[in-house]
Amino acid sequence: MGRKYFCDYCEKRIQNDSSIIRKHNEGLPHIRAKAEHFEQFKDLEQILAESKQKPPCRSLKDNSECMFGIICRFRHYTTEQIWEMQQRVNDFKLIQQKKSNRLHRNLRNINSRTEQFLLKRCARQRYDTEKLPPSLQAIDETELQKFEPPTWG
Ligand SMILES: [Zn+2]
Ligand SMILES: [Zn+2]
Repeated sequence: MGRKYFCDYCEKRIQNDSSIIRKHNEGLPHIRAKAEHFEQFKDLEQILAESKQKPPCRSLKDNSECMFGIICRFRHYTTEQIWEMQQRVNDFKLIQQKKSNRLHRNLRNINSRTEQFLLKRCARQRYDTEKLPPSLQAIDETELQKFEPPTWG
């Protein structure tokens, strides 16, 4: 007996014979397993878009198991599941939007803050810093490096 062929998608050993392998690869269980494998890498938005285009599968009505599984040309998600997916996609988009808005705002703030900070610092240096209280003394370079802009919520 020769070495067996191992199908990664089906996690199954089959006889190492080209016609048997071809037959296996064309079989429904293999195509299904392969599609299920790639489904993992799709994002929710893509799954949602695809599902929306499909009419519901009869298996949903009968509550039976559809032999085509993921490769069925009809949809297996219920209206509730579609709705839930839509909510999650919307939430995700909203969060992303908020994040990027906040980032842009912070970058703008940081720029103007830095400018103000440097202007004030230059102004202070005109005085004799020795005579000023510590809070008004010019900040030295090490202080400057430690400076961290506060975060804006
Ligand atoms: Zn297979
Ligand atoms: Zn189906």
